[in-house]
Amino acid sequence: MSKELNLLSNISDVFSKIKYGENFTEEVSEILKSHIDSSELNIYVYDKSTNSLRNFSKSWVVIDEKIEDKHSKEIYDSFKNFGDFKFIFNGKGYSDLDSDINLQAKNTLFYPLIKNAKNYGIMEISFDNSSKLTKDFIKAIQVLCTEISLIIQNKILYEKMEKNVDFHDAMKNIAKIIETQYELSYIIPLIGEMIDKFIIEHLIYIFLKSDDGTKYNLVWPMACRDKKILNALPRLDEEQNYFLTDQDRIGIFPLMGEDNKILGCVVAHSNIDKLSVKEIEYLDQLTKQAAATITRANIYAEVLKHATLDALTGINNRHQFEVRLKQEVASSMRQNIPLCAIMLDIDFFKSVNDTYGHAAGDTVLKEVSSVIKNSLRESDIPSRYGGEEFAILLPFTKLEEAYGVAQRLRAAVEQHEIDISEVSDYDKINVTISVGVSEFDRKQTGEELFRRADKALYSAKTHGRNKVVIYSK
Ligand code: GH3
Ligand code: MG
Ligand code: MG
Repeated sequence: MSKELNLLSNISDVFSKIKYGENFTEEVSEILKSHIDSSELNIYVYDKSTNSLRNFSKSWVVIDEKIEDKHSKEIYDSFKNFGDFKFIFNGKGYSDLDSDINLQAKNTLFYPLIKNAKNYGIMEISFDNSSKLTKDFIKAIQVLCTEISLIIQNKILYEKMEKNVDFHDAMKNIAKIIETQYELSYIIPLIGEMIDKFIIEHLIYIFLKSDDGTKYNLVWPMACRDKKILNALPRLDEEQNYFLTDQDRIGIFPLMGEDNKILGCVVAHSNIDKLSVKEIEYLDQLTKQAAATITRANIYAEVLKHATLDALTGINNRHQFEVRLKQEVASSMRQNIPLCAIMLDIDFFKSVNDTYGHAAGDTVLKEVSSVIKNSLRESDIPSRYGGEEFAILLPFTKLEEAYGVAQRLRAAVEQHEIDISEVSDYDKINVTISVGVSEFDRKQTGEELFRRADKALYSAKTHGRNKVVIYSK
């Protein structure tokens, strides 16, 4: 797994566990330490009432601008001179990631904390020149900064408003969705459900912009027939911020991505009630958290392009599967050796998620992968093909043997008890898999080989699940 990906997922882990009001900087800085040596992390937030910066990590201690201290001066200078820079490195501002970066013995990296396009604080990372500073690293930290910024705003909001635990939970759950997920088709419905659960009085819709940026397409729930909403959407491009319409009964909140690009929006609508001030503030925060989650998912996807292993299960990812398939088909053709394919899918996995929660679902995926891996030979090649689907290539294997392997896998998964007590209120569960098997013949392509295994898998599903089926025409 790439270093940056590891960094992102370790830090998200911290974010998902922090309890309300807890300080997270120490833990995050520990993680940073293992990526760039000797890093120290500090967060400073501007306080209007005293016109000073305060250290968030050290119980809001005021940083004195006036005393003759080089470090305080550097903090204030960086804060005041941020402008449109994305980050400041050793005193120099950078607005893109393409310039060369010269490492010194001691290095300081500043990032802005931004709310409503205004810089309200900065984050400082200092480190020795003992390891490389990559573009991916700079970018990853940039994304984390957005999330840190939200956590801090959430804390400030929490201190200002009555302590609303539900709200905090909703924020946390949205941040947590993608510890390892990066497919928007999977993430968006979860975000929708979480916001919907929280803002009960209003209908919630999520729209994403089309790739060419001209249209807003509804992505959650299935339909929106409300003309008032559809007509109001284009106004978002002018407003660049949330706005209310239809006598404050419709609120449209932008999902802002990197560089203030509008990715889409969350819409809240009621036929009866106006949106209250509090609901607006909540929706504003929830949408920002959702945007951060989506942005992080996009970064994950980008970083993952260079990775060969699946972040959750540690086995080959889909991309690597395609690579290996080509290789194995070629060598099977060349040397005339048998090759088989297995496609398998966890049964009723959706209800595992629904009943025990997504964290338990993730645990099931990890466990099933390790059962699969442990039941195979060295030469077999398992991959995570999609959500809860796995593809296995079996070189040097004939159909009868492959069928035997598939039966062994099916039985091993069925018998394996999965401990989910750490991530849910439940103890142990079992799941089953359905399996399809097919054999390569020289007349077909690798793609066809798996299409056939998939057809057989489908037939196993329709014939009662927890079954192995061999492809036949
Ligand atoms: P079937 O027996 O027909 O396969 O039913 P199913 O419920 O397993 O099938 P379906 O394809 O409807 O559901 C798959 C679910 O897997 C839906 C999706 O939310 C969930 N999922 C996909 N990827 C992940 C993941 O990485 N983690 C978790 N927890 N769930 C995932
Ligand atoms: Mg399934
Ligand atoms: Mg499936």
